[in-house]
Formats: sequence, C-alpha cells, structure tokens
Amino acid sequence: MALVRPGSGRLEAVPCPMPALAPGQLRLRVHACGVCRTDLHLVDGDLPTPELPRIPGHEIVGTVVDAGGSAFAIGDRVGVPWLSSTCGACRYCLGGRENLCADARFTGWQLDGGYAEYAVAPAETCVAIPPGYSDEQAAPLLCAGLIGLRAWRMLPGASVVGLYGFGAAAHLIAQVALAEGQTVFAFTRPGDDAAQELARSLGVHWAGDTGQAPPQPLDGAILFAPAGELVPLALQHLAPGGTVVCAGIHMSDIPSFPYRWLWMERSVRSVANLTRRDAADFMAWAAAHPLHLAVHVYPLAQANDALADLRSGRIAGVAVLRCKG
Ligand SMILES: [Zn+2]
Ligand SMILES: [Zn+2]
Repeated sequence: MALVRPGSGRLEAVPCPMPALAPGQLRLRVHACGVCRTDLHLVDGDLPTPELPRIPGHEIVGTVVDAGGSAFAIGDRVGVPWLSSTCGACRYCLGGRENLCADARFTGWQLDGGYAEYAVAPAETCVAIPPGYSDEQAAPLLCAGLIGLRAWRMLPGASVVGLYGFGAAAHLIAQVALAEGQTVFAFTRPGDDAAQELARSLGVHWAGDTGQAPPQPLDGAILFAPAGELVPLALQHLAPGGTVVCAGIHMSDIPSFPYRWLWMERSVRSVANLTRRDAADFMAWAAAHPLHLAVHVYPLAQANDALADLRSGRIAGVAVLRCKG
C-alpha cells in the first residue's frame, strides 16, 4: 500500500517487485506494521514528500527470510523502527545522538516501509522482538514505545507527569511512568470518553479534557498530540522548573503566550526520532514488564480505513495492519 499522489491523503495498492537486498540489509516477511500519526503526516502532505511511490510504515514486525550475512538467522522475529541509517561520522553519530544526524534516513519516508508483504532494512537498525508479545502487539512498541520512552526520559526526576493526547504512545508511556512510581494524569481531546476510559483502565491517577486543570501541578508534560495550542495550555499547569516535551515530528504553530508562563525555569523542548540505544533499552524494558496494548487490527488492504480512523480520532489505543494472511 503506497503513497502515489502527493498529499492525496490516500494510499493505493501497488504491485511491487521483491525489494532488492543491499549489503548489510535483512529481508523480512512482514507480519504486522503499526499505523503511526507520522504516516498520516506523510500521506496528508504535512511532511516533505519523498520520492514516490513510497510505502509507509515504520513499526514493522516480521521474520527474517534473508539474513544478508548479518548476525540474525533466517526465521528470527525482528522489528524495524523509524530511524534507519545515519552517516556514522558526524559529531551526533559519534556522540550517541544519531537521532540528530543531518543525513539520517527514515523507514517509511526516505525508504520503503512495512505497509507491504516484504521489506528490507539495515540489520544494524533491527531489534529482536521480546517473546510474550504477538506480532500485532509488538508493532506499536517500535515507534510509540521507543519515541515515547525518549520523550519520557526528558523528564528526569519528575514525580507528576501529564500526557497530552492519549493515543498509541501515551497508552504505553503511562504504563512505564506508573511502573516507575510516578503520578500520571491523562489529557484527551474534549469529550473523548473512550481514550479517558482506556487511560483509567491502565491505572492513571486522573483523566480529563485538555482544557481542564489537573488535580496538582505537573513536573513535566509530554505532548503527543500535534496541536501547538497545547503548549501554552500545558505550560500553565507546570510547577516551577517543569518541562513541556513536544514529541511529535509535526505540530501546528504554537500561539504566543506571556513570558510569565515560562518564567521560573520552566522549559519547552522537542524530542526528535530515536537512537539505537533507545530502541534496545525500550525493548529490554518491554521484555521485563508485560505491557498492555489496546490494538485494533486491520488487514493490509484496509490501510486507508486505519488511517481515516486515526485521522478522525476514532481509535482508542493503536491501529495495526496485519500484513500476513
Ligand atoms: Zn511513528
Ligand atoms: Zn551522522
């Protein structure tokens, strides 16, 4: 299922040849692929349009059918995340911050992704999938989980955390934060009872609308919703020294706000992509702590339905494509 017409908002079923295997790559039979908001930004034309046609999807779970001489073996179950290749030589790559590399290439954007039956990916970016998760459950770990973890780590020492936009990433990171002993408040778009119910079922301490004040000030807020107006809203609920983390790759403009809302060492920052270490760390965490995933499965051929449901906010939890019959 590929983007053929830029900004069309729709994918088309395109017959493709078997993807060629470059040195250092694995070929995978794709079993499942998560549907991420970034995929929507790609098909809706919010992100720079790549070379077309392009197959989206950067939460790929599959089995190795050609190991390409790597340490993986045929039959291994692996995952492919968003960050694909980086230059390996710049100061960011050499300093463990390859998420900031200017030459980074991304799965399902500059490279074909997992809305397909087969995919290729650099072996060095692939991660083993922990046993105990089905293919459909494991797929959202690869972006919602990994990038969610990176965002959450931008709040060291926080004891009260607010999550704005309770979708795929927040429903995973709420579980991480709760397991680590934090107080967690979930904010959803006004009237999204299904998402608030999901949040409460996972044990958050409070769930409400984005326009509401939380029961106590936040040490940190993570914005998973791509709505810039949430930045000043969240800032007003921050305790002194608190941080607002913007976790999306795309966000609407941030309205201006009085300086006093930022005063007292409050800060606003973004988090970009993920590092290979984030991937390894989150998969290890997920292996040791069973995560509950609210997964809605769609057949690959119904990828447009999954994107439409995500666009309109009809999914409480996460959408995943089943790519193998
Ligand atoms: Zn993603
Ligand atoms: Zn680099």
